[in-house]
Amino acid sequence: MQNKSMLMIPGPTPVPESVLLAMAQHPVGHRGQDFNQIVSEVSQNLKWLHQTKEDVLILTASGTGAMEAAIINFLSFGDSILIGNNGKFGERWVNTAHAFGLKVDEITAEWGKPLNPEIFKTKLVNDKDKKIKAVIVTHSETSTGVFNDLETINKYTKAHGKALIIVDAVTSLGTTDLPIDEWGLDVVASGSQKGYMIPPGLGFVSVSQKAWKVYQNSNLPKFYLDLGAYKKAINKNSFPFTPPVNLIYGLQIALKMMKAEGLTQMFTRHEKLARATRAGIRALGLDLLAADESASHAITTVSSSKIDITSICRIMEEKFDIVLAAGQDHMKGKIFRIGHLGFVCERDILTTITCLETTLQLLGDTNIVPGKAVSEALKFLL
Ligand SMILES: *Cc1c(COP(=O)(O)O)cnc(C)c1O
Repeated sequence: MQNKSMLMIPGPTPVPESVLLAMAQHPVGHRGQDFNQIVSEVSQNLKWLHQTKEDVLILTASGTGAMEAAIINFLSFGDSILIGNNGKFGERWVNTAHAFGLKVDEITAEWGKPLNPEIFKTKLVNDKDKKIKAVIVTHSETSTGVFNDLETINKYTKAHGKALIIVDAVTSLGTTDLPIDEWGLDVVASGSQKGYMIPPGLGFVSVSQKAWKVYQNSNLPKFYLDLGAYKKAINKNSFPFTPPVNLIYGLQIALKMMKAEGLTQMFTRHEKLARATRAGIRALGLDLLAADESASHAITTVSSSKIDITSICRIMEEKFDIVLAAGQDHMKGKIFRIGHLGFVCERDILTTITCLETTLQLLGDTNIVPGKAVSEALKFLL
């Protein structure tokens, strides 16, 4: 049905009507006082959301732009770095670092498994000459729905003393507790179309004092994504270049909604939705790629040995207008992913589980006990 599409993918995520309406306004001049005032409010609220007293820089870019900024502003030609790679986004960090001539040591894990922090520890402890300039970790690996143990990897990085910790928090920011200042995370990158409840188009980067010192000596080429320019501008509630004014209108409203809900409540909501989804999926006789201990609160990844995954996604979309995300690369056709982050509530999970149940029945699954999956999911919601 037209205009009835329900996005259950890990970005872009659904956008509240109040945000859409705010974005429908006529843009104002980005150098005027009215806009400065909005930027001032947005900037304060972003610090609250990111749990940092440092500026959160806003880039006109998708999350990958924020990732690239995190590399080119804090590293130099030939620097050695450690990158955790257990999925599509870990791999993207590796590719970005290679594009800028960095020496990359990859710590890998099978897709669906979390990174082993002890491997980071060994490499960092053995680095007596302090050659490792940064450790890069994807907190919530969106391609597999796996959480990496950032807290432990960060502790080992802190013990090293020299290396910066750079974090991909694209699907963890706003969904999962990520106390940036308390943990001392140096550079944290995220993007608007995931947990922020606004459309794609903005990248966010927070930067620690330690990272700003390193920035002074970084010699990788940069211009549009030179974060020094964004820092200077944000101190005057402004931008170095023309920002997407209407997206900032949307962000202003979305941040107000988040503040009204509260950080702890937001994190609890996402965790509950994730648990309910997993319970429902299990009751449907489908398999979960990630183990309970390392399951992301933002994405649930589903596989099946008996039902064709591509057919499930096709029927969900054709019959129910529910969009699920397919697997990427070698996971194509083997998994589907349910995004439950941002503007997502209990009703959305119950609807998705119910429609999945019917879809499986339509595909000839005779083991389905009607209503069982929803009642299993409800145990985590009521
Ligand atoms: C979405 C995402 C990104 C950024 O992707 P863009 O398409 O550039 O927004 C980076 N890392 C993770 C973990 C993501 O989920």
